[in-house]
Amino acid sequence: MSIATRYRVKPGTSVDLSQWKTDDAEGVDRDEVEAKTEANTIAISELQHRLYAEHKRSLLVVLQAMDAAGKDSTIRRVFGRVNPQGVQVKPFKRPTEDELAHDFLWRVHQHTPRRGHIAVFNRSHYEDVLVVRVSNLVPEERWKKRFGVINGFEQGLINGGTEIVKIYLHLGKDRQREKLSERLTDPTKNWKFEAGDLATREHWEDYMEAYEDAITKCNTDDAPWHIVPTDRKWYRVHVISEIIRETLERMNPRFPEPKLDPVSAMKLLEQMR
Ligand code: ATP
Ligand code: MG
Repeated sequence: MSIATRYRVKPGTSVDLSQWKTDDAEGVDRDEVEAKTEANTIAISELQHRLYAEHKRSLLVVLQAMDAAGKDSTIRRVFGRVNPQGVQVKPFKRPTEDELAHDFLWRVHQHTPRRGHIAVFNRSHYEDVLVVRVSNLVPEERWKKRFGVINGFEQGLINGGTEIVKIYLHLGKDRQREKLSERLTDPTKNWKFEAGDLATREHWEDYMEAYEDAITKCNTDDAPWHIVPTDRKWYRVHVISEIIRETLERMNPRFPEPKLDPVSAMKLLEQMR
């Protein structure tokens, strides 16, 4: 079984996050894994080059996690080698007044990847069944209907040629305490700390329940969730690089046929001054 498959949630399973590891690196050789991660990031950049040239399909990577799980550093490490012209990272923050005046997918749809591109969502439309649910931002009868809406939305993207990979970075509660205290003690990390992080931590159990529900109800063959052990950065980055590489390899993008016969075009070029 590949690493990507190991952490993929089988459609139809009811997810209990307490049964999924937040650290699964016991006995794993760090140096070996880091060398593979390095190779994966090179492969991802080459595959993206082909995806761009092919100009037919696209890839959407959805990243969701509790605060301080390391979404930002994961994006930097996994996609840092991709041509910046072919990858767009979109962080979804608290909605603006304008965004709140529309349906919840309005702000999301415009950032889905165009043909040939990779889009990485740092948080996503799933916030609308997570924070929105836990903080009671809309009534239950409204957010409950969103699971179906999300499945339909994602299916529409898939029909249009977008591959979707969804990843939950599964952070342990104790590990989050360490990471939040680093944000308070390291002056270069202070800026990342928000009072809201503490409020969110207070509702840890409610969040776990909301995540379990979202992952269970929005996990399809075509747009599966992955639950990635996140407590150790090098292992998390490795697993995610494996998932992205495997997905792109399966898509197998190809360089398009030349628009002109290269031999006759070369003759024309040679005749020119
Ligand atoms: P980090 O994990 O490094 O703290 P972050 O993704 O939390 O980064 P922040 O700017 O700290 O980035 O927080 C963004 C906030 O926006 C989160 O608290 C998130 O819950 C909130 N948010 C995102 N989408 C929505 C939404 N649809 N409704 C309400 N809040 C949202
Ligand atoms: Mg935050």
